Amino acid sequence: MIIAVDGPAASGKGTLGKRIAAHYGLNHLDTGLIYRAVARALLDQNLPLTDELAATAAARALDLSVLDEDRLRGPQAGEAASVISVYPGVREALLQGQRSFAMRGSGAVLDGRDIGTVICPDADAKIFVTASSEERAKRRWLELKIAHPDLAYETVLSDIQQRDTRDSNRAASPLRMADDARLLDTTKLDKETAFQAAIVLIEADLSRNR
Ligand code: C5P
Repeated sequence: MIIAVDGPAASGKGTLGKRIAAHYGLNHLDTGLIYRAVARALLDQNLPLTDELAATAAARALDLSVLDEDRLRGPQAGEAASVISVYPGVREALLQGQRSFAMRGSGAVLDGRDIGTVICPDADAKIFVTASSEERAKRRWLELKIAHPDLAYETVLSDIQQRDTRDSNRAASPLRMADDARLLDTTKLDKETAFQAAIVLIEADLSRNR
């Protein structure tokens, strides 16, 4: 069984993806980490993010089984990931690894931007998780200001809006809701309600596909 969870930056799809995977006893892959790892590889070698060939080589060399989540978190890595993820060669190099992960064992939950549209178009269930950019920025700001008390809400909001624009407007696999995905807007939902709502949507897909 494969469940696709897509959505924009800071929509909470990662947390939801993890819980959904635990609920169904499936593996979980946060595909944002993969793009973050490619960007990190360039930054570690002091290479510019504009070096498409180096980014493609880093994507080809990436081992999906050793993603160091703690090192890859944070807004800078997210922003850098969004720059290198526009390169078609990078996306092409990462495609098969994601599909293989999805097929392993009894299946998986993958969260990202193009899971329902490109990586797993035949997924058994697809949800697209979103929330207003103001609400997403507020949640991200509350998280970040523990470590960065001077961080302004407006900075986080403009970063999120810039990332949404870049992810939605790129030519290769843009952020887009699949035609057969179900929309989950969490703007007015707390985490628990969002999770319960996600399960209802997924069950509706699963019973239709059974
Ligand atoms: O989800 P997360 O914020 O960690 O993703 C970081 C960046 O990686 C996104 O802004 C997007 O540009 C890219 N990404 C992507 N396709 C995915 C997952 C992430 O292009 N499936």
